[in-house]
Amino acid sequence: MDLQDLPVTEVKHVGLQAAAILRGRSIHTAGDLLARTPRRYLDLRAADDWNLVNERVIGATVALVGTVVDSKRIGPMRGGGVSILLREPAGRGVLRVVFFHAPPGMAARTPLGAKVRVIGMLREGRGDLELHQPRVLAPDAKFAPIEAVYGGISTLAPATIARVVHSALERANEWSDPVPVELARTMKLRSSREALLAIHSPATNIPVDALIALQRGTSWAHQRLGFEELLAAAVVLERARKSVGHAQPIAFDPSVGPHVAKRLGFELTASQHEAIDAILRAMTIDQPMRRLLVGDVGSGKTLVAAAASLATLRAGRAVAWLCPTSIVAEQHAHTLTRGLGGEGAPIAVLLGSTPKRARTAARKAIARGQIRLVVGTHALLEDDSIPKDLGLAVVDEQHRFGVAQRMALVKDRAAHMLVVSATPIPRTLALAQYGDLDVVTMAKGPSSRQPITSRVVDPTDQEYIATTIRRALEANEGRGRVFVVVPRIEADDASAVTIAEADAMLSKHFPRDRIVILHGQLSTDAQREALHAFRTGSHPILLGTSVIEVGLDVPEANLIVILGAEHFGIAQLHQLRGRVGRGGQRAACLFVPESREPSARERLDEVAGCSDGFVLAERDLERRGAGEWFGEEQSGRDRSFRFADPLRDRALVIRAVEAARDILERDPTLASHPALDRAAARLVARGQHPTAEDAG
Ligand code: ADP
Ligand code: MG
Repeated sequence: MDLQDLPVTEVKHVGLQAAAILRGRSIHTAGDLLARTPRRYLDLRAADDWNLVNERVIGATVALVGTVVDSKRIGPMRGGGVSILLREPAGRGVLRVVFFHAPPGMAARTPLGAKVRVIGMLREGRGDLELHQPRVLAPDAKFAPIEAVYGGISTLAPATIARVVHSALERANEWSDPVPVELARTMKLRSSREALLAIHSPATNIPVDALIALQRGTSWAHQRLGFEELLAAAVVLERARKSVGHAQPIAFDPSVGPHVAKRLGFELTASQHEAIDAILRAMTIDQPMRRLLVGDVGSGKTLVAAAASLATLRAGRAVAWLCPTSIVAEQHAHTLTRGLGGEGAPIAVLLGSTPKRARTAARKAIARGQIRLVVGTHALLEDDSIPKDLGLAVVDEQHRFGVAQRMALVKDRAAHMLVVSATPIPRTLALAQYGDLDVVTMAKGPSSRQPITSRVVDPTDQEYIATTIRRALEANEGRGRVFVVVPRIEADDASAVTIAEADAMLSKHFPRDRIVILHGQLSTDAQREALHAFRTGSHPILLGTSVIEVGLDVPEANLIVILGAEHFGIAQLHQLRGRVGRGGQRAACLFVPESREPSARERLDEVAGCSDGFVLAERDLERRGAGEWFGEEQSGRDRSFRFADPLRDRALVIRAVEAARDILERDPTLASHPALDRAAARLVARGQHPTAEDAG
């Protein structure tokens, strides 16, 4: 069996309980485990050197032997800490070691006069340099010169994860390499096994810059394993593109667009008209349509997808919409109810949070053919949630999903598929993620729209921010709505404004009962309630995280204030800005960086100065790559890829696509490339297991 498919329960040191926790994070196999790369590497090769202390190299990691010359308790007696003073043996250095919470037995291990080794990072203390909560070893204990540090998973401690990953690593020679031998040879690729070892257990003589590349995920080893993924994905996409499956032709019905627009109270824009036309025509033949609808934020893509859905329903086929979050799913269900005016009713909405009973009932009705239109999140990908006679699958805001999920949705189904993308897509990304799709572009949004005024505001200028919010609320006869967005719910690395901080700031200027909080960790009910309070205007200020970035549509919203704005990627900032001014009113956006550094402002000035998503994309993707474009959280990254980054590894993407075409040309069934065939199947299968982060 390929190591990639070996169940985690077969990995040494993984008990049943641990396996259950791992499964909860979609870690089912040894391959999944090995894709958990170290969070960072501790380089202790030059750390056994008191000069780091004597020269006050703040931030350096040290592993020093010292003599305990003082030890005292700090804080309350119970649950308190210990402060120890170490002296360099035969030297002048002193180092204070502070345990805010002393582990049991610490005092006994560090009596006066004892020698110990401490491993930690040097910090500026009050007088002496300090180590906080260091690791304490016997002076002669062995320590790894380079240590891979893993993140914990739920109740599994980092050390436990390290142990089980390394158990899996022992079997690295069972990893099956999908790259054909000849190709690996011409590309001069090293083996998968070497790549896995390099990542999880770097050689002790590795140069520092190579270690940094490992940490950033840009090393040769990441590219090596990334190429495997890209090749498998290219095979999947190429096969999907070529499969002349059979789909039910949908009769061309030019009335659906105007019909839906009218029900929603609009005139179709020229772009909408063209897009609907192209899509309806593509569905009239018996070959499944595979189309990517690309349009800037706010260009009115939902209506286009709704019109295609109506045509499909009228032709007697069922329709499914896969949405990125519960909020968006419910919003689309609402729009479809209005826009389709009862055709296609009743609509089933299936979310991760849908109670089991309701889900079972819905599935039964779907099986009986009573439900023709289902809208949902990943919950849809579970068995029996999709009508058997599916005519059209709509996948909204695709960049949250991966190749794998998309394939899972239409697998074995002769359905047409319309993928709706929120962001303009560069060519290499399109090749790696959308190689099976034809593109339709919507150039312009409704002409009734006024340009959004964007401005970068100094973080200390709270009066200005508060006044702008107040004016926005008062606009449109007091019906204004304001989004305030922060990068994180809680600060996890000291920087980045939190919900609580923003709440405290807002509460200084506005009554508490005007503010409602929305973020992804609230229950679906709480999210729904929060959104309702905002939509109806009972709470016209919505303070939230970037959950609102994806597809949220509140026509009255006329101001968005983005705090800690430098923590968002350019695409995210543009998406967030697209949440306002949708009702045609005047609207504005304030980018408020957290830091006053000029570098924090630079990118914000750029977004503020350009309102065209396509132009922004082109400019910035070329220049800065995926990380900057999608932001720190990598929300745009296809989760089907663990090592590959299609935007960064452009050359590899092109190579993978060429290779996949070539291989399939000569060996269409992959009979002589079984490992590659299995890798492709594995990638598709992964789409059927929603991950915890995916469960919207
Ligand atoms: P996106 O392309 O970002 O998904 P939506 O489909 O959510 O955009 O549409 C953005 C906003 O524009 C919504 O409030 C929608 O109701 C509105 N809208 C859509 N089509 C039209 C139109 N033809 N005329 C005016 N407003 C429209
Ligand atoms: Mg949308």
